[in-house]
Amino acid sequence: MSNSSNWSRRTQAVHAGTRRSQYGEVSEAIFLTQGFVYDTAEDAEQRFIQIEGDEFIYARYGNPTLAMFEDRMAALEGAEAGFACASGMAAVNGALMSLVKAGDHIVSSRALFGSCLYILEDILARFGVEITLVDGRDLDAWKAAIRSDTRMVFLESVSNPVLEVIDLKAVADMAHAVGAMVVVDNVFATPTYSYAIEAGADLVVYSTTKHVDGQGRCLGGIILGKRDIVRGPVEAYLKHTGGAMSPFNAWVMLKSLDTMDLRIDAQCDTAEVLANGLADHPKLNKVVYPGHPSHPQYALAKRQCKRGGTVLAIEVKGGKEEAFKFLNALEIFTISNNFADSKSIVTHPATTTHQRLKPEHRAELGISDGIVRISCGLEDAGDLLADLQSALDTVA
Ligand SMILES: *Cc1c(COP(=O)(O)O)cnc(C)c1O
Repeated sequence: MSNSSNWSRRTQAVHAGTRRSQYGEVSEAIFLTQGFVYDTAEDAEQRFIQIEGDEFIYARYGNPTLAMFEDRMAALEGAEAGFACASGMAAVNGALMSLVKAGDHIVSSRALFGSCLYILEDILARFGVEITLVDGRDLDAWKAAIRSDTRMVFLESVSNPVLEVIDLKAVADMAHAVGAMVVVDNVFATPTYSYAIEAGADLVVYSTTKHVDGQGRCLGGIILGKRDIVRGPVEAYLKHTGGAMSPFNAWVMLKSLDTMDLRIDAQCDTAEVLANGLADHPKLNKVVYPGHPSHPQYALAKRQCKRGGTVLAIEVKGGKEEAFKFLNALEIFTISNNFADSKSIVTHPATTTHQRLKPEHRAELGISDGIVRISCGLEDAGDLLADLQSALDTVA
């Protein structure tokens, strides 16, 4: 394994964490193996007493392909360690379940991915963890909710689908003042433009299904942070409860890191072109993009994020009927509930990803029937803008 700590990011993305087998392969090998053999019974006994350095015993605990992926992600994030999980939700579940117990108090932003909200409100609440949900944009609300016995603060740094931005450093400072841990679901900020650890996150969680794979193939997730937390309670919980990523998926993700920053940069460029191109469109009530001056938190976004991200939202005038007309008229964009793919995707959150929310909760989160989420892929930005404009021509 190489010492990558003084390499620049582009070099780390290609080389960090590489483990070569005795064959000296150029491209990282996939170790599609459940178990590992020992030369002697004494070696087996010893490894079960203490796993040293680059040793493995079972793929649910760890695997060389996963270790390469974890070390490369940790290097890119500026984290000490990582644990790769079967999906983004396995990672969120692992981060939350391994670190809290009955009687603990969690403060979380309300604008969360639906499954994250389920873990907090349904699962953790069932085990006697107290949850307080706040409007993540409102620092006074965080201040009022965080108590001397708060154990954890959880938030999505940029929310889905309406791209609200949280002042992470301010919230992390409040949490740390009472000794609470800060866990950040950082998908929308992207791993390329992450500021989470710098701003004070103790753990950063990604659904690597999104920008890391970035090509719509494999599910995955990762928990990144301080070594004593990741290799301590997080790893113990995940290796015993079966949350590990498959070595095949880890290999796909690892190879995808070679190009992740290039892809995300191109997708951010496209998001800017689309946000600028649609900004004053007469068929839209608004365009929401953290990198555009019209975003209500543009100043914060500019200070905190290096770029505005790969996703924007628009509000089509005329509600669901006109939004559906628009979606159905698109030719390059595909209708799907996923995002951060090399193929551009549109989503109508009110009737799909956020359908199960009560109408008043949707309204609270700004998810009207006219909102369409646009995930920018790797196609030509001019073609994509033309596709959106001609589909908007069909709207009344
Ligand atoms: C997609 C997503 C998840 C869940 O990830 P999966 O890989 O689908 O399990 C969690 N949080 C955010 C913000 C997401 O976008």
